[in-house]
Amino acid sequence: MDPITHICSGILIGQGLRPQPSVRRKTLLVTGLAGFAPDFDAASYLWGADVYLRLHHTYTHTLVGIVVLALLLAGLERRWLTELSFARLLGLNLAGCTIHLCGDLIALWPLHILWPVSNHDFVLQWTHDFDYVVLAVVVVAMGLSEVDGFQHRAPWIIAGAVLLLAAYFIFIPGWGGA
Ligand SMILES: [Zn+2]
Repeated sequence: MDPITHICSGILIGQGLRPQPSVRRKTLLVTGLAGFAPDFDAASYLWGADVYLRLHHTYTHTLVGIVVLALLLAGLERRWLTELSFARLLGLNLAGCTIHLCGDLIALWPLHILWPVSNHDFVLQWTHDFDYVVLAVVVVAMGLSEVDGFQHRAPWIIAGAVLLLAAYFIFIPGWGGA
């Protein structure tokens, strides 16, 4: 998936956890960043297209990789976000990274999620790497979950978004792909 959908889905997961108002912004910052984090491997493009094609969607897109990534991020964030415990930060980062893998699974690039145990390709190919419908549903759900009167209903809003996306992929899969 594209970076905006990844970041917004990370924020949406954070909203679904209904954080206390005093740590809400920081919680959403952490899950939004974690929603993008596995794509840090795109920095490999600095070493050339060959390296990028070899590394993108590999190590940081595995179960082992997201645990390592979440530990690193939680360790770094703990220095600045002192109101959130390390365990809480770790959980938030794992949630954000996990939703990233889910977003990539429905697109085109195969993921070796079980590496190094297995190199089996996991991919559903329900749509392209960018999909207007998925982006729109995620952004609207995120916006709605941020409205004052609806913040406590975020889990229901997420459930509605999942149902909408399920219907989309059943009836017109990939229609909004680009
Ligand atoms: Zn990715």
